[in-house]
Amino acid sequence: MQIVPSVEPVSLPIVGSNARFPVRRVYCVGRNYADHAKEMGHSGREPPFFFLKPADALFPILPGEHRQWPYPSLTQDLHHEVELVVAIGAGGKDIAPEQASAHIWGYAIGLDMTRRDLQSVMKKESKPWCIGKGFDHSAPIGPLVPVETTGLLNAGAIQLVVNGQTRQSGDLQDLIWNIPEVISHISKAWELKPGDLIFTGTPSGVGPVVPGDQMTASAERVGSITLTVV
Ligand code: MN
Repeated sequence: MQIVPSVEPVSLPIVGSNARFPVRRVYCVGRNYADHAKEMGHSGREPPFFFLKPADALFPILPGEHRQWPYPSLTQDLHHEVELVVAIGAGGKDIAPEQASAHIWGYAIGLDMTRRDLQSVMKKESKPWCIGKGFDHSAPIGPLVPVETTGLLNAGAIQLVVNGQTRQSGDLQDLIWNIPEVISHISKAWELKPGDLIFTGTPSGVGPVVPGDQMTASAERVGSITLTVV
């Protein structure tokens, strides 16, 4: 007997395949580019820290598709954060950085959309960030590209354009904690499993968008997504 209607498991499309990638958890890294840490009022290399978004906060967008993305409730200061997303294909605990790349299934381009005003209030009051970070649709994401196609990504341009104007422009080689180090750190706190995603942090240039704005997020060798805020 079904007590309440069951929800469909979250999955992502894969470039060049009809198969889907089933999503388990969505981990996110905070302040992982030095220039972004500085614009947020911090400096230097701090230990990496993490938060999660619900898997059903993912908002998948196909290449060439131009989806309308609903402006969330409660905020007057909604920010974009363009991020490379790593998909985990093989799980593990206490993964050494030297072994971590073998756990990568592929990559996607993603946006860690943030209700910055709510996040700031919670930060000031030493309360959790969930309301600022983990809201419905807060994680627009493109299709996954297998690592066999991209090769391991240790460098490469990552960019966000709003209404034709470049707002964020970074390079993966400027990550404070690189992808193997991030995988290693997370695997010490949680057991990683196939289907986990990791949003790896955003370069500087975060800022607000409002209804009507068109965002295009892209990363070298991974592709791009376009959405309009409505
Ligand atoms: Mn972020």
